[in-house]
Amino acid sequence: MELELTEVLNIPGLVVEDYRNLGQELVLDVELETAHATCYRCGEVSNHLHQNHWSLVRDLPLSNREVWLRVNRRQFKCKNCGKPFSEELDFVEKRKKYTNRYASQIIEQLIHSDLANVAKNNKLTESQVFSMLSHVASQVLPINLSGLKRLGIDEISLVKGQGKFIVVLVDLDSGKLVGLVKEKKKKSIEQVLLSWGQEILEQIEEVSMDMAKIYKSVAGNLCPNAVITVDRFHVAKILHEELNQGRIEQKKIAQELQTEEREKMLASIKGCKYILLKREKNLSEKQSEKLEKIKEASPKVAIMHELKEEFTQIFDESNNVGEGTFKLLNWLEKAAPFFQKTVRTIKNWFGEIVGYFEQRTTQGIVEGINNKLKLIKRSGFGFRNFDCFEKRSLLVWRLTDSLA
Ligand SMILES: [Zn+2]
Repeated sequence: MELELTEVLNIPGLVVEDYRNLGQELVLDVELETAHATCYRCGEVSNHLHQNHWSLVRDLPLSNREVWLRVNRRQFKCKNCGKPFSEELDFVEKRKKYTNRYASQIIEQLIHSDLANVAKNNKLTESQVFSMLSHVASQVLPINLSGLKRLGIDEISLVKGQGKFIVVLVDLDSGKLVGLVKEKKKKSIEQVLLSWGQEILEQIEEVSMDMAKIYKSVAGNLCPNAVITVDRFHVAKILHEELNQGRIEQKKIAQELQTEEREKMLASIKGCKYILLKREKNLSEKQSEKLEKIKEASPKVAIMHELKEEFTQIFDESNNVGEGTFKLLNWLEKAAPFFQKTVRTIKNWFGEIVGYFEQRTTQGIVEGINNKLKLIKRSGFGFRNFDCFEKRSLLVWRLTDSLA
């Protein structure tokens, strides 16, 4: 039975010696299977047991029952230096009343819930949960940035309608959050980046961003070896907005028309925003018919739609900077009368946008990260205190390996 419990417990090197079933609680007596330990003072291996030190430690529940480990942290006597020493246990910290994996699991629950609920659901006090948060945070933060090569900078509004943004820093290779800045201000962003240290900043090869001057300036100042690129989807977003604006303008034009034509025009425009923005090749038969109707009713929208398709194709199909640049320049000339804002923006950020053809970096993952941050924020706990919110957010990406 103890042998099976050892397997169920599944902590490497740990053996269940005995157990007690107390109904809602299961108590397992455990100790390491090795009969010796290494003295932390002199490195000598000792098998001379000096004392047993038992303590109760909370572990992951089993079939809905609380599990307590009665852990024996043995004390050995070192023959070399003559002093007693306690063995190291990597599943529980000294003096902690819970295993590391239990604390991690509790902290993971915080993403979908709040402090009060997590405490209640696990029969813990709020201060116990908070102490686990601090403990887990101290183990994984500050996070290791030594692998950071491609940095994504984006922003997210956590409080709707207030125009307040926090800045989100992402490792584009691992897909993990690496930092948050409490406001979209140059000085604040620089402060966070500088805290990473010169070595990290110098190893960054690329910084991908939307078209915000402030980011370009920060990256230009602090990341000496990085190429700055603009994610194609940020450019597409501006293009899409302008195309939709073109659609809405048709409503005004419709007002000038005779009743019958006006109705026809308005009917063709209504509810087709999505159809205009979607890739034409992905439209259903019904959607394609609707597209034809609006193109018929409005030649201007027809041209804009055509240009939008071409734009997407350039970014999908260009295989090198030369080809991409050539095609994009061509496109700018044709699009100038129809997409004034988009064309102006692309011209201002031409070098960074063209950088996409070389690096092909997109910030697609950033969107997933932003959604998750909103979830964390919605659970309330910690948002009033930005540092706590940041700590908790960073933890979420250290504790869970995927972005699922
Ligand atoms: Zn020793």
